[in-house]
Amino acid sequence: MGKFLLSFLFALISNAGDLQKTPPAFVNGDKKFIFVDFEKAEYNIAFDITTQKTMVHSVIRFATIENGFPLFDSVHAPTKSFLDGEVVQTAGVIDPTNQTAYIGINKMVPAGTHVLEVDTPLLTGVKYDATGVRSGFFMSDLDDRQFLELYVPANLEYDQFQMVFNVTVKGAVTEHEFFTNGMVKNISNNQWQITYPSRYVSSSIYFHMAPKGAFRVISDRFKSVDGRSISVTVYGIGSDLQNFQFKAKKVFDELEMDYGPWLHNSLTIYAGPIDGGMEYCGATITNLWALGHEMAHSYFARGFMPANGNSGWMDEAIASWRDNGYPQQSSLTDHTDMANQSPYLRITDYRAYNAGARFIAHLDYLSQANGGLKLFLKNLAQTHSFDPAFTQDFQGLLESFNGKSLQNEFNQGVYGYAGNDKPTKRRSPFHPKLTQKQLDNLL
Ligand SMILES: [Zn+2]
Repeated sequence: MGKFLLSFLFALISNAGDLQKTPPAFVNGDKKFIFVDFEKAEYNIAFDITTQKTMVHSVIRFATIENGFPLFDSVHAPTKSFLDGEVVQTAGVIDPTNQTAYIGINKMVPAGTHVLEVDTPLLTGVKYDATGVRSGFFMSDLDDRQFLELYVPANLEYDQFQMVFNVTVKGAVTEHEFFTNGMVKNISNNQWQITYPSRYVSSSIYFHMAPKGAFRVISDRFKSVDGRSISVTVYGIGSDLQNFQFKAKKVFDELEMDYGPWLHNSLTIYAGPIDGGMEYCGATITNLWALGHEMAHSYFARGFMPANGNSGWMDEAIASWRDNGYPQQSSLTDHTDMANQSPYLRITDYRAYNAGARFIAHLDYLSQANGGLKLFLKNLAQTHSFDPAFTQDFQGLLESFNGKSLQNEFNQGVYGYAGNDKPTKRRSPFHPKLTQKQLDNLL
């Protein structure tokens, strides 16, 4: 495509930068599959107490800058799909390196803007009883296809798009309430609209709905160093919510001191019956022990965001470096390729917690003459958050900060050019694998 035409198309598409971070398009059979830029997704989610079934009708406007067969993702197969008003077939597609799978639309589209309508059943994260329903879109970045695509049709982590949930609970006797990092608007009895910031990606959303009164709730406000009053919600079924509230304030102050003003409009903490935790934008499900780690992820992971699996190591390495008490390491001891695996990889490499944290400790040593890595990370969080990043972006910014090349260090520590440590299967205790039963218990 001509340079002029390409820049013209980029100018037409909002957030076109999203398409610069996609995995490469690929050919499968006689089709060229392309990654797309979601602009807006409207999710009409209907919970039905009588049938105990949940259907999602999604209307997604997306843009492409080349001709091809569009890809998106939905773990639960669509039952009906329309593209630009015409019925289309969809099917699972595996990437060329067998890392992951997507849903491919069986229709070639020209470059431009298109509208996809998809019906999918919501089969995960829902629990009905006679009077109401509980639903939670709980996620993981350590297992494949466990972000928003586990619940509704979504795009990959590189893509920021406007998400609106229109939620209805049909036949409910009880009122329902939401714990979320979006803006909830009550439309009518048991009908709501939740709007999320357009900077969000598929791993950002926190969504938990339950019959009113199912959880104990503490509401608070934390004063940010920039003067904002941040709305805080701590909820759960246990009796120790105040311990979470107290620790959250301590961690909030610590993180603001180190990394600048809280990056989100609110803080939601589900003091869940869980080992470890999981992070969202300004939200977490966590036990008390992991609370600090998960809140740190509101700066690194759900503030400064990874664009794919090859960049996921950064946030776990930084959060682990904090957990370890910010040690400095004068020599680089590990060789890994955790940032240089398949471009289709979507999950974080487990080596991030140990070898990754030691690499960060070494980068701190190398940055000490310029104020240390924490100063760099503060600038990074405050100026590069909500812009999905590659490891190369992080490297480039750190090299500018230090005024010197760090290519050799990155080659050894994360790109694996000088021999690799074996990937580990050992998970961090901060993010243990949860069974479906454990996830359902959180509802
Ligand atoms: Zn973590």
